[in-house]
Amino acid sequence: MSSLSYVSTDNNSAWSTFLAQVERVLPYLGDLALWADTLRHPKRALIVDIPLEMDDGTIRHFEGFRVQHNLSRGPGKGGVRFHPDVTLEEVMALSAWMTVKSAALNLPFGGAKGGIRVDPRELSEKELERLTRRYTSEIGTIIGPQQDIPAPDVGTNAQVMAWMMDTYSMNIGATTTGVVTGKPIHLGGSLGRVNATGRGVFVTGSSAADRIGLTVPDCRVAIQGFGNVGSVAAGLFHRAGAKVVAVQDHSATLFEARGLDIPALADYQRQHGAIAGFAGGTPLKEDEFWHQEYDIFVPAALEGVITPERARALQCRLVLEGANGPTLPGADDILRQRAITVVPDVICNAGGVTVSYFEWVQDFSSFFWSEQEINDRLDRIMREALEAVWQKADALDVTLRTAAYAIACERILMARRERGLYP
Ligand code: NAD
Repeated sequence: MSSLSYVSTDNNSAWSTFLAQVERVLPYLGDLALWADTLRHPKRALIVDIPLEMDDGTIRHFEGFRVQHNLSRGPGKGGVRFHPDVTLEEVMALSAWMTVKSAALNLPFGGAKGGIRVDPRELSEKELERLTRRYTSEIGTIIGPQQDIPAPDVGTNAQVMAWMMDTYSMNIGATTTGVVTGKPIHLGGSLGRVNATGRGVFVTGSSAADRIGLTVPDCRVAIQGFGNVGSVAAGLFHRAGAKVVAVQDHSATLFEARGLDIPALADYQRQHGAIAGFAGGTPLKEDEFWHQEYDIFVPAALEGVITPERARALQCRLVLEGANGPTLPGADDILRQRAITVVPDVICNAGGVTVSYFEWVQDFSSFFWSEQEINDRLDRIMREALEAVWQKADALDVTLRTAAYAIACERILMARRERGLYP
């Protein structure tokens, strides 16, 4: 349980999940474990009020957050989430996972995350723009290309990043493309960024499948979440010949034993903003999704969805964590006992932050790479990171998650120790 006064005692919260993950890696950190408290204490957490004039002239207030969990290895990096359930504690956990992810991939970043407690689907385009601009101004004192670089997450996209970049630039009086990543291409964005996270899920997933004796074209795949991450991963598995037999989003669950027509579903989703009503599959009840037979299961929506009960029900060989924090610690233990391999979020969905890193580097040098170069570098970095984690897991006889944490926390805590405490 956390010793922080501003944290709840909910054992299933995302922050509790992160703390439990840290606890599990301590025996493998040697002397560095003495520094582990730094991981349990976010460096900086900013709560902001965002007053917004609605199109009808009324005024509403929204809660906004930006948390910088750890900056020992470089500026903060992490997305911004617009979702009605966002809380400070959730943003803390998401920022902590970014610290671990950046270190696991050896990117020169710390971890940060932001969010607004809002349902963006209920706002008009103009309201969304005003909300984004005010939020950016409010957190403007702590973000910047050398301080903390936001990016898209659930409910945000390249347009939101363009507004953030413009607002920050207007406030400091200089166009600063490197303040956010995931921007439109013509505003200093990177080719390959939109697909990067889903691509990383596919690349690490195919590599993991090979290692446990699965052949991707023979696999039945289920995906929860059909947004930026889930739809791209689904498309790549479909293209590789796998059958994506089930897809669930906030609106519906669709099942088709012969495999859903993923390109048609993606078109439908783009037009309607959801998969409900798509003609090409049988609708299932929400819970039935967890009881079908799959080979590969990809949670790519929100955290905490794989509970112990669902971990006992899941019928698959491989879980690819496209989402951040989808598996509760108790569920992790059950999946391990059932010999279901989990490629953890901090490796599996790190394609996005990796190409964000490429985007940041390109913005600084004002020299842009081809999509082929981006994808080649991304694939290489992801495969090498998974290989290192797999070897560590074998050597320590632990899960891939604990192995990834061992590699990452060693890097973070070494940096912390070498920098020393100020003053
Ligand atoms: P998105 O907003 O594009 O899509 C989210 C998807 O989740 C949508 O299809 C939505 O319908 C679905 N969803 C929401 N609530 C649901 C529910 N209760 N049940 C089932 N489905 C539900 O978001 P995204 O960018 O694809 O992010 C998805 C996950 O991946 C998040 O955990 C995010 O933190 C993580 N992630 C995203 C990126 C990125 O580059 N976008 C990078 C790393 C990790």
